[in-house]
Amino acid sequence: AAPLAIVRAAGEAADRGIIMRTGEAFQTFGQVSVVLLDKTGTLTEGRPDVRVIEALDDEENLLRLAAAAESSSEHPLARAIVAFAENGGLILPTAQDFTSLTGLGVIARIEGRDILVGRPQLLTDRGVDLAPLTESIARLEHAGHTVVAVAADQAALGVIALGDQLRTDAGEALAQLRATGLTPVLVTGDNPRTAAIIADQLGIDDVRAGVLPEDKAAIVREFQTGGARVAMVGDGINDAPALMQADVGVAMGGGTDIAVESADVIIVRDDLGAVLGARDLSRSAYRRTR
Ligand code: ADP
Ligand code: MG
Repeated sequence: AAPLAIVRAAGEAADRGIIMRTGEAFQTFGQVSVVLLDKTGTLTEGRPDVRVIEALDDEENLLRLAAAAESSSEHPLARAIVAFAENGGLILPTAQDFTSLTGLGVIARIEGRDILVGRPQLLTDRGVDLAPLTESIARLEHAGHTVVAVAADQAALGVIALGDQLRTDAGEALAQLRATGLTPVLVTGDNPRTAAIIADQLGIDDVRAGVLPEDKAAIVREFQTGGARVAMVGDGINDAPALMQADVGVAMGGGTDIAVESADVIIVRDDLGAVLGARDLSRSAYRRTR
């Protein structure tokens, strides 16, 4: 049955910019005890920009090749690298055989060379020696940057460090979440050092970093096996499996199409406080029906 209280609550939710796609999600939301939060695009604005480039040899060539490889990627890091190169007046060569490795990086063939751009681990896994860059990577990650490494024909060219702003309402939203008795968990594909800085700022004790998209869903299952009802909040392609696995999947409205399609609840105006708002509405609707 769809009692009047639920219909009314769905209307109130819509007024607050919350779209409830299923009645079931609405029912479950009030029982959630663990909230998993993606970092990039969820706790942060998701509009990173290039802060530092450290090249072993030619900085401009590194940027030119990286941007050319990233020009077919929709990832916010890719967009930032391309914009930075174009704003600097660089002409980008055409990329061939573009492959996107979700949550890892990209591969493309440019000017006859195999260009690899992505998280440092991706490059080392593929046999690139990053030893000359180890110190740079650690220093930049400690400063809170997301570090992307670049290689041509298996030889390291250097790194690009990007920064992203915390959403202005993130501190407030997390404080309320904790005050309500919910357990926040940060789940990100980004590196542990950058993740720890964000978690510290927001008072999140449980941090899972360097996580692949399938692993995000496995972490949801881990909490479910422990008996918790789990909400997952995310925005990216890499969050889609976890959004589907969660008891309640919540997508930021500004997120990718696949995240929005995989979610039960959509936060239209990208305001993190609305996540708690949706839960409160769900609770009061179900109280009213009893
Ligand atoms: P998050 O979980 O924080 O939203 P992602 O899973 O999308 O992050 O990405 C995880 C990491 O993989 C990034 O921090 C970056 O190092 C790397 N990465 C993913 N996509 C790209 C890309 N297109 N270019 C470069 N690096 C990428
Ligand atoms: Mg994200």
